[in-house]
This record gives sequence, structure tokens and C-alpha cells, in this order.
Amino acid sequence: MADIFKTPLKYLPGIGPKRAEVLERDLDLVTYLDLLHYFPYKYVDRTHIYRIRDIRADMPYIQLKGYIRDWQEVGQGRKRRLVGIFSDGTGSIELIWFRSLASIERMYQLGREYIIFGKPQFFNGSYSIVHPEIDDEEKLEGMTGGLMPLYNTSERMKSSGLSNRQMRQMLYTLLRALTPYLGETMPPWILHRAMLMSYPEAIVQIHFPDSTERLEGARRRLKFEELFFIQLKLQRMRLERRVAYQGYRMERVGALFNALYKEHLPFEPTGAQKRVLREIRSDMLSGIQMNRLVQGDVGSGKTLVALMAMLLCLDNGYQACMMAPTEILTRQHHIGLSELVAPLGIEVGLLLGSTPKRSRERILDRLASGELRMIVGTHALLEPAVQFDRLGLAIIDEQHRFGVEQRARLWGKNEGRILPHILIMSATPIPRTLAMTLYGDLDISIIDELPPGRKPIQTVHCFEERMYTVYNFIRSQVGEGRQIYVVFPMIEESEREDMRNLEQGLQRYREVFPEYNIVIVHGKMKPKEKEEHMQRFVSGQAQLLLATTVIEVGVNVPNASVMVIEGANRFGLSQLHQLRGRVGRGAAQSYCILVTGNELGEDAKRRVQIMVETNDGFEIAEQDLRLRGFGELEGTQQSGQQLSLRIANPTRDGEMISYARALVEELLAADPELRHPDHEALGRRLLELFHRDTNWGVIS
Ligand code: ADP
Ligand code: MG
Repeated sequence: MADIFKTPLKYLPGIGPKRAEVLERDLDLVTYLDLLHYFPYKYVDRTHIYRIRDIRADMPYIQLKGYIRDWQEVGQGRKRRLVGIFSDGTGSIELIWFRSLASIERMYQLGREYIIFGKPQFFNGSYSIVHPEIDDEEKLEGMTGGLMPLYNTSERMKSSGLSNRQMRQMLYTLLRALTPYLGETMPPWILHRAMLMSYPEAIVQIHFPDSTERLEGARRRLKFEELFFIQLKLQRMRLERRVAYQGYRMERVGALFNALYKEHLPFEPTGAQKRVLREIRSDMLSGIQMNRLVQGDVGSGKTLVALMAMLLCLDNGYQACMMAPTEILTRQHHIGLSELVAPLGIEVGLLLGSTPKRSRERILDRLASGELRMIVGTHALLEPAVQFDRLGLAIIDEQHRFGVEQRARLWGKNEGRILPHILIMSATPIPRTLAMTLYGDLDISIIDELPPGRKPIQTVHCFEERMYTVYNFIRSQVGEGRQIYVVFPMIEESEREDMRNLEQGLQRYREVFPEYNIVIVHGKMKPKEKEEHMQRFVSGQAQLLLATTVIEVGVNVPNASVMVIEGANRFGLSQLHQLRGRVGRGAAQSYCILVTGNELGEDAKRRVQIMVETNDGFEIAEQDLRLRGFGELEGTQQSGQQLSLRIANPTRDGEMISYARALVEELLAADPELRHPDHEALGRRLLELFHRDTNWGVIS
């Protein structure tokens, strides 16, 4: 009868199809189990009953005990309301309703003792409570101990009869219905090791706690539970994939790899680059498909790691491709990689959306025949027409720009059950604990070291009214032979506004710097024109590059030493950090100047302050997470929703995530199929929890 947890909510007494629909639409709650795991967002202390005499306007929710002395209907039309005069012997207060006046009046009897609950307001010289909750004292027994749960509800829910009070009622009913079936899900050894409250107790206590202590125990248990099952799901997927698909075994470290490494590399790889390469290498020779995420801050040298991996692949007789999110970045990769591998006699193909038909066809032919061994491209690589002879490795740069589904399409590039190895490069530093939650089925490598000799970028904040100091600074830097980026804010929903910003900026900079060569880059440009402008900047002909955020990803001009960000308050933290990463790539001291108006909101102020204080991408990501909350972090929205965390918080529960993950690893090492009788409940719960998520299979 465990299936009772999967029962659709419309069958719960008192809900019905209408409300069930609202619950699904607004809260994504479909089954009994979903509702059971819809936890209160806070609790109100209902142990105390106040006297009306003691009411103050700044009080939160309070309880009163007394009786309704009189009903009055006042006002006309939309202002019509029902007022109940409520007394407790120490004074009176008005209870006010704007809806369902007649039925309210019918429902409660004058003179009978009630407990009322609500937030008092002071208005027109007297106290009142709007839409209070009213209960008989006896009826309250059992349902609320001291702490009363509050659930998040939407407007639509309230108007469909799903107020907080009704949510409580529903959960109460649900708990009663499920009590006989609430078994333990965790095996005894985990309960014992992690010192967890039992599941049935935790579930009751989270909704209707007896005390703050037991509530704490319940929260801890349910957080653990949530994180544990996510880990279990992800690790199981990974195991299944390993059984189902093989990966090419790439055992040789051959001529190409060695030649580049020993003879042609313009610099010594950093310790972190070497370590990550070792991790990749051991994946690629394991015979199991690699699914690895490489995280490294901007400028940490991910491209080199990618290139070495591609050479390994070529050395073993396979083809390799690398996919980047924009044409500019793809072209840069093409140029950079071509230069590095030219001495090895390797050609790097380039495939863009804008590649003309004739050259495209030639490229496709040479890919399919296996003659072209290495290629970089944009999304164009994903088109079905693109077929490889033996694709052994696919690299995805800046993964968060690629949809999960598109990544999976890469797998289809080879026939049969052998999949190409997948390497994802990300410059969006996700805090490790979060990465573990989101990408539990990926292996993660971190390049946590910048190439030597980099001077940390100096970041300053400057108000618009002192813009002349920025101009002076630009002039002195250009005087030293440096180049400058200026970025203008992107205004959401309005590309035209973007352009206006940029065009006005261009005029202004032309007036201030008539002697300089200024180029602009923006999203609306034709590729060819964009390329020309970029090229003038890359070659050093132009001193200033003005752009909207299109330069955000990946461009590499080591001689550029200043990044001016106008309207910096309009950018998110991770965007600012990405932009700043465009400078500081050469030997010169680099600067980032954040320009804003005088009026700054609290959050914007905080973002600017964080940028000024630190260069550390991981630190910034943590802060970003704190400011914006989980689920809004760039690149995680989609996965965040899939995880739909209800109680755990990856920012705060880092240690618990690691612990849960370790226990899952131990569990699956001993019993991968969850066959042991102690583990059967885990398998069942897994099915109940993830029955709707069809997308899990392609999360990597
Ligand atoms: P990202 O991680 O942002 O993709 P890149 O791969 O573009 O970084 O590398 C940034 C710059 O650092 C490039 O100019 C690259 O040539 C240089 N670089 C990479 N690795 C090293 C190294 N080990 N020593 C010195 N410079 C390096
Ligand atoms: Mg890069």
C-alpha cells in the first residue's frame, strides 16, 4: 500500500479537483507525498494568549480569547465590510471581513467563547484584526501544540479557499490519513550513524511541532533526507549510465600530446592545470564514459586543459570537438588553438551558423570521413547534418549557456552504445557544495590557481559625476600603450535601449577622445562587421572597445588593462566578475572601474562593495548565492527547479551535503541495486519522489 503516497491530491477529502489544480499550478504539488513534504516556512508561537488591553500596534500575530458581542455591516459597494466587536473583559477590538460576509456571520455565534488569531492593526483610533482566524478552543486541541505552522500561499490559492488555515487543515487531514503508512525510509545503520529523528516523528513534528527542540530535530532529519535522496538519485543515474554505456578507452599518451607538452608550449602549465589533466586522463582511459565538469575562474587557463585533452583523444585515433556559446568566442578559440597546434601539423576546423554553404559542406564531408580531426564551433555543431567518423571527445565551453538537452544531443553523434567523453568547462564558479548538489552525477575538477605573474586586478567604484577622473585615467593608460574596454548596461526586454546606451556612449567617448580609434561591438551587428571591429581591437589598432555585454564571454586581449563598466549597478555579481575577467590577462597591472550614479539601492551597493573587496570567483559566487538566493544563481535555475529543494539550502547546509553524499557512496558501494531488505524502502521512496521528473536522465 505504499502507493498511497502517489495518490493525486484531488482525492484527499476536502480538496477536490479545483483546488488540486491550483495546488499543482502554484506550488507544483501533485501527490499526497508532495503535500506531505510541503513544509511550513515559519511558525507562530500559540502558547500565549494576549489580553486586548495589552495590544500594541507593532505586535506580530497574536491570540486572543473572548466572544463576539455584536455584528455590524458597514460601508457601501466595494467598501462594504462586516465588523464583529470582540471582547475579552479587558477591552474590545474590531474583527473585520471584506469577503463572504453573510456566511461568516452565520458561522459564528454571538456570546460564544472563541480563540482568535491574527495581526492587530491600529486604524482610526482603534485596534482591529482583518480576516482573523477563529476557532473553538476544543477544536484547536491536537492540531496545534505551541507552535503553529504558516505555509506559503499565493493569491490564487487564497481566493480558491486555500488560505493558510485551510492548508493546515489539509495537512492535518493528510497526516491522519497517512499515519498508518508512515514507515521509516532510512536503514537503521544510517539513522544511527547520522543520529536522525525517525521519519514518522519528523513529519508530524515539522507540521505540528510540540516544542522548538523537536522541531529542530525534525528539520535536521528532513534536510538530511532531502539531500540524501537527491544524491542517491544522481549517483544511481551515474551507475546506471556506466553499466549501459561504455566509453572509448584511450590508453595512449602519444606523439601529439607529448610534442605539444614538451616542445611547443609557450609556458609551464600550473600545478592545478596538471592535476586536472591527470584527472581527465584517468577518466579517458577507464573505459567508462567521462562526464566531467572543469571549473576554473576566468583566466585560469581552461583552454589549455581542453586542448591537451583533445590531443590525447587524437593520439588514440579519435576526433574531438569543442563547442562555445558565441561566434566571437568560437573564432578566438579557433585562432588560439590553431596557433598552438600548427607546429604539430594539425588543422582545426571551424563551424559557425554563418559558415557559407560551400565551405560548410566541405567541412561536413571531411568530418564524416575522419580526415578533419579537430573542430571548434557554435551550436551549429549540434545540427543533425554534422556527423563524425569517430567522435571521441566533446568539450563544451561555458556550459551554462547550453541547454541540458543540447548537451545530450552530442551523445547522438556516434552510433552504438559507446558515447564520446564529455568535458564541460565552466567559468561560473559554483560553490562546491552547490555543485555537488546540482551535478552529483558529474565528476568535478577545479582549477584553483591562476597562471603565475598575474597581478590581481584593482577594482574601484566611481560615481558618474566624477567621470572625468575615469577619462583621465583612460588617457594615461592608453599613453602607456594599453587598451580599454567600456561596457554599457544591458537593459532587459529592450535591445533598442541597449543600443541607445551604446550609441550615446560612443558619441560621448568620441568627444572626449577625438584622437583615439574607437570600435563598438553589439549583438545586432552582422558577424562580418563584428569580426572587423573585434579584429581592429585585437590587433591593437583601436584603443577603445565599447560594447554591450556581448563581450562577456571569453574574448582574450592580453594588452587590454582597463575594464570600465558603466551603469554597474545594473549588472549581477557574476556578470560583473565575468566582465572583469576580460582584463588582467597580460603582464600589466589591470583595473576595473565600476561607474554608477549617486543613488544606489542596498543590493547594488553591496554588489559593488563585494567586487571592490575580492577577486575570488568562488567567494563571489557564495556571496551571490547569499544575495540572490538559491535558484537564481546564473546557470542553475533549470537544475534548481528540477531539484526543487524544499527545506535544505545548499548555501547553508554544505556540511550536510558532503555528509549525505559520503553516506550514499558507502551505501551504493555495498549495495548498488538496493537489494538488501534494509534498503528496499530507499528504492521505493526514490520512485515516489522522482516519478514526475522525466528530465533527470539528461541533467548532465
Ligand atoms: P579561461 O580559463 O578563462 O578560459 P584561458 O584558457 O583563456 O582562460 O587562459 C587565459 C590566458 O592565460 C591565456 O592567454 C593563456 O594563454 C594563458 N595561460 C594559460 N595557462 C597558462 C600558464 N600555465 N602559464 C601562463 N599563461 C597561461
Ligand atoms: Mg575560456
